[in-house]
Amino acid sequence: MSQNLIYLDNNATTKVDEKVVEAMLPYFSEEYGNPSSIYDLAHTANTAVRHSRETMKEFLGAKDAKEIIFTSCGSESANTAIKGVLELNRAKKHIITTKIEHPCVLNLYKDLENKSYRADYIGVDSNGDLDVQELLSKVDKDTALVSVMYANNETGAIFPVKEIAQKVKEINPETKVYVDAVQAAGKIPINVKETEIDFLGISAHKFHGPKGIGALYVKSGTMMAPLIIGGHQERGKRAGTENVPYIVGMAEAAKLAMEHLSDELTEVKRLRDMLEEGILSKIKNARLNSTAKNRVPNTTNIGFLYIEGELILLHLNDAGICASSGSACTSGSLEPSHVLRAMGVPFTALHGSIRFSLSRYTTENEVIQVIQELPHIIEKLAKISPFQKELGEILNNKC
Ligand code: PLP
Repeated sequence: MSQNLIYLDNNATTKVDEKVVEAMLPYFSEEYGNPSSIYDLAHTANTAVRHSRETMKEFLGAKDAKEIIFTSCGSESANTAIKGVLELNRAKKHIITTKIEHPCVLNLYKDLENKSYRADYIGVDSNGDLDVQELLSKVDKDTALVSVMYANNETGAIFPVKEIAQKVKEINPETKVYVDAVQAAGKIPINVKETEIDFLGISAHKFHGPKGIGALYVKSGTMMAPLIIGGHQERGKRAGTENVPYIVGMAEAAKLAMEHLSDELTEVKRLRDMLEEGILSKIKNARLNSTAKNRVPNTTNIGFLYIEGELILLHLNDAGICASSGSACTSGSLEPSHVLRAMGVPFTALHGSIRFSLSRYTTENEVIQVIQELPHIIEKLAKISPFQKELGEILNNKC
């Protein structure tokens, strides 16, 4: 891999912090005991898991470490909470979510619809902000669950999850609330204490921890059926021998994220704004896709009118820059992002939308390089675009 790689796809995954790797290493071949065994070797592993749980409690602002259960990823956290609630409450058949959730929630809801559930999908406005009033208007006495993300992975828009949870409970105290906080963790402070949120899921690989480990906050006293049935681990809420090295790694990543949180809110945001302003001022056919009231500090999503997003990504890749498009390439057809479609992003920008997501490793020099490189790429692609007339003069400043 090139030394000069500029990695601006941190919402897809992040580089594992070296301190995280260091913290994990002893738990592979030195402290390899099963935390459930009784000898000293196991005791070390057990203590490491206990300390990690305490750290995760602090990271999520929970009241009690017992409210944290370890899972394998954000998708498992969502599936555990959603299926776990519905399994125990089979009489209620109404579920609510948003149109812009991650597939781990959306596809699960589609599956539940096939199993006789009635689902409402709440829309967003053109800025990417959620229609909270519409969501609340759908809650009724049959509503078993509301699942709403904390921050959107494509636009970075932050939703008022605490307020939503509180108001949902005012309408129906029995409705459970799951918050997918995968894109919020490490970027903004999370504090579930004193909220009405019942479940909240995160994933370590989005905040410089390893892939394949996540956590689920389950509010004290909240009943749920386990997704994975087996041993007594995780207080019966998730069977399977604890993945000690990865649990330790996630806790170390959480500790570092807490230490760096103020940098996210200042330095990462400054660089994101610089990138955004640089691109918008230099490229005439660029439009900011989301101007949501609140956005996580590292994300921007920009549409390039009349240009194909996949081509932009390929050219960025050639220049050593990693970003991602709002569209997923499925079986040869380019399907525009469900998030941007829900926002009503015009067709002319839908296929040419790029998400840039920064991290605490992003440097000012890297941002400057992207701002210099991108206008050349867009200019080149504009020349081969079938929309010559519409494109016209695309650059403010010829470089
Ligand atoms: N939720 C959101 C908002 C995400 O962005 C992602 C991953 O991209 C997930 C859930 C799934 O997390 P994981 O890849 O750990 O299963």
